Amino acid sequence: FSKGLEAIRDLPCETPDNYRIPLWVNTGLMTDTIRSLDRGAEGVGLYRTEVPFMVRDRFPSESEQEKIYRYQLEAFAPRPVTMRTLDIGGDKSLSYFPIKEDNPFLGWRGIRVTLDHPEIFLVQVRAMLKASVGLDNLRIMLPMISSIFEVEEAQHLIHRAHAEVLAEGLPVSMPPVGVMVEVPAAVYMVKDLAQRVDFLSIGSNDLIQYLLAVDRNNPRVSDLYHSFHPAVLHALQKVVDDAHQEGKTVSICGEMAGDPAAAVLLMAMGFDMLSMSAVNLLKVKWVLRRIGMERAKKILSDLMKHDNAQVIRSSLELALCKEG
Ligand code: PEP
Ligand code: MG
Repeated sequence: FSKGLEAIRDLPCETPDNYRIPLWVNTGLMTDTIRSLDRGAEGVGLYRTEVPFMVRDRFPSESEQEKIYRYQLEAFAPRPVTMRTLDIGGDKSLSYFPIKEDNPFLGWRGIRVTLDHPEIFLVQVRAMLKASVGLDNLRIMLPMISSIFEVEEAQHLIHRAHAEVLAEGLPVSMPPVGVMVEVPAAVYMVKDLAQRVDFLSIGSNDLIQYLLAVDRNNPRVSDLYHSFHPAVLHALQKVVDDAHQEGKTVSICGEMAGDPAAAVLLMAMGFDMLSMSAVNLLKVKWVLRRIGMERAKKILSDLMKHDNAQVIRSSLELALCKEG
């Protein structure tokens, strides 16, 4: 990465009017971890645990998983690492656990699969807990939540895994547990969810595809996939406000957070941290270190008056150009 960006690697993400917003990273592959450490990430907002499952030809055992997770947790300690429980189905498949469906994105995905297979979930959570002994920087996050029942079931299993690990004599503390908000139903249940969990994180890749009914991977409709669609922006703001009303932090870990222009709006909305691919981290930091929070809020409120995604994007670009 360029010299100009390298110079801000160890500086905080702080605006000229002294507003601090931590920038976290999304990881999965070993190379993501190395790149993230290199870019000075302040934490991991999303570790996609399905990645090590996808590169194997069978389910990794509990001790294999423990080693994989330990590497992540140790690499970033004492910074927090948010491990998402297995999120397969949709566009992510395992050769050794085929799922054939007509509508995979509306089918057996994420938490739905692991609640139907608690043995997979329990092995994974036990491995995470064992990997965190002595580090205490683990956070567990649940994907594709669309009902309170799923959260309660998953929490019940996490408590069971915790009790089992304690019974083996390992002194492990109970980690914070959070949910992803990536199904539109969850947007309207944020208060109820927030009362039951420690943190929330928006998965904008899925949330946008479900809000707009646009497949995130279909090139034929890709020009309808708009991060700046007014419905998306209103949903994001609602999630932040409702989570904060319940005193819980909310981050965003979809690709949107890694777009420097979008990051200005997300900061203005009040997200507690932004989590992105490591490749985008310094670009986002560079932009946010130049724009004041008050200015970002003014840009956001002006843009929210528009009802058209293209107009919002071009007005945002124009406003940022004026900033220099
Ligand atoms: C998301 O949906 O925005 C997300 C971060 O998860 P994934 O891209 O892995 O579905
Ligand atoms: Mg998702």
